[in-house]
This record gives sequence, structure tokens and C-alpha cells, in this order.
Amino acid sequence: MTKVLYPGSFDPVHNGHVEIVETASSLFDHVVVATIRNPQKGRGLFDLDERMAMLEESFAHLSNVSVTLFSSLVVDLATELEADFIVKGLRAVSDFENELQMAQMNNEVSGVHTLFIPSASKYSFLASKLIREIAVFGGDVSGMVPPSVASRLAERVRETNEEKKS
Ligand code: ADP
Repeated sequence: MTKVLYPGSFDPVHNGHVEIVETASSLFDHVVVATIRNPQKGRGLFDLDERMAMLEESFAHLSNVSVTLFSSLVVDLATELEADFIVKGLRAVSDFENELQMAQMNNEVSGVHTLFIPSASKYSFLASKLIREIAVFGGDVSGMVPPSVASRLAERVRETNEEKKS
């Protein structure tokens, strides 16, 4: 049985992530999607429990996908889960430079290899950061995220606007 770990911030999960998970789910026996708070990406719009709930809703249709959250190193989680590989999505050359360095470092410290899955070009422009920015300013992101994420984003924007008014 081949198990892979797909880690990310997923704040929030979008259709580019969904595509990578669907591909991994068809290639491997088990995919574990893990959300982490990345200190380099600030506080975030959703907390880890909310991100995990959105991941669960988004992958409910895939029986060999499970979801978790973590606060340790990716390689420690991979070892703990006995994952055979870490899987990462690649949007563009700019992703590759960072991801290659991270993959080499992770291999050096743990022996775990990273496999890259390229994004289909129709999703390669998607990034959680851009989706957050568009949603916060009232733009329509419903074609870029799973339905449950679209409604949670709308709710979060409503809450934030009400807090600002009071
Ligand atoms: P984002 O950059 O959207 O905030 P994450 O940090 O959560 O995403 O990324 C988790 C993983 O998903 C990384 O391997 C990243 O390269 C990949 N990824 C992000 N967006 C896409 C996309 N549009 N297509 C394919 N892979 C993606």
C-alpha cells in the first residue's frame, strides 16, 4: 500500500488543491491531506479547525483521502504517518525553485522523497492568498473554490464587515 502526505496551509483550500488531491487519490492507495499554520504566511483567515473542516467537506467524495492538522515539521508528520512520499503541487517555475529546495532539505533530514504533480493550466493561477484578497473585497470566487468554502468565505467576510462597523 502506498501512502502519501500532501501538506499545505490551505487557507482556504481551492480548486487547484482539489485537482492535485484528486490526481494523487487516483495514483496512490491513501492520501493524507494535512493543514499547518505557516508562520511565514501570517495569522491567516481561518483557524486550523476551520481549514480542516473545509478539507473534509471538499474531499468527502474521495474514500481514500483523509485529513489532519499538524504543528510539527512536515517530515516528522510523514514519519509518524509512515507515508511513503510527500506530494506537492507545482503551478509555475517560481513554485519549483522553493519546492525543490524544500524537497532536498526534507530528504536530507529524513530520507523522505517528494513527488511533484503539475497543475493543469486552468488552475495554475489559483493561490489561497489571492482568493482571500478577492473575497475580502467582495469579489466572486465561487468558481475557484469548492461550494462549502465559498459559503464559509462569504460568512467570514460578513462577520469581519460587521465587526468593523461596531
Ligand atoms: P497556496 O499557495 O495557494 O496558499 P498552500 O501553501 O496551501 O497554497 O499550498 C499547498 C500545496 O499546494 C503546495 O504544494 C502548492 O504548491 C500547491 N498548490 C497551491 N496552489 C496550487 C494550484 N493552483 N495548482 C496546483 N498546486 C497548487
